[in-house]
Amino acid sequence: MQGIQIFCMRKTNSLWEGFGRYTKQLCSSILELIFPSHLYCAICGNIIDETRPYSLCDHCRDHIGWRLKEPFIAHVYGEATRCISCCSYGMYERRLIFRLKYNKKKSTAAIMGEIVADRLKYSEIEYDIIVPVPMEKSKERKRGFNHAFLIAKEAGKILEKPVVEHALTRTKKTRAMRGLSPGERRANISGAFALGREAEKIMGKRVLLFDDICTTFATGEECIRVLHDANPESIDFIAFSAKNF
Ligand SMILES: [Zn+2]
Repeated sequence: MQGIQIFCMRKTNSLWEGFGRYTKQLCSSILELIFPSHLYCAICGNIIDETRPYSLCDHCRDHIGWRLKEPFIAHVYGEATRCISCCSYGMYERRLIFRLKYNKKKSTAAIMGEIVADRLKYSEIEYDIIVPVPMEKSKERKRGFNHAFLIAKEAGKILEKPVVEHALTRTKKTRAMRGLSPGERRANISGAFALGREAEKIMGKRVLLFDDICTTFATGEECIRVLHDANPESIDFIAFSAKNF
């Protein structure tokens, strides 16, 4: 009897969750019709015309630290990894990233994906597949999406490159990286990833690892270490926003 009650409660909860999701989607579609997101700057919200690149007003676009540097070469366990980024890690870049991650404005992923695609077009890096850094499962459930995957998917669509979402998986919860020293970050992220259920797709391939933010490269380095176990031909790295390259 208790089992049936629990089953019914779960069923009711999932129905309400489904209804809640549907209502949210409906509301955001209606809002999108009334206030189309491409008519407002994705950072400051000022009105723009739809010809503005990346849905940014001139002021915000001029305040982003765009990066077109030569790749920084990181040596991860004896293998050379070319690392590039689209922009620096300043206030304007953070506002764009936080709009997607914390305000859950998914349309931002298309803007960021377009920026990533343009950056890759102006780079010498060649790759067959894109692998986004995975999120810890409970965090992803809470947010409702993996922001790195959404951005990579949008970039992949433009570049016509497959995105392998489950090449890597997150195996443990980690503390928030903010406020940790480089050594603490490395210890925190150590052992946090394993090869995922799609790892065989990267064997013999030129892999491009993608993350939204790179501050000390501790996460990137740990992902690359694990990805090497699947025998890719090469691994390179792109971050949307990076502190040092
Ligand atoms: Zn703006």
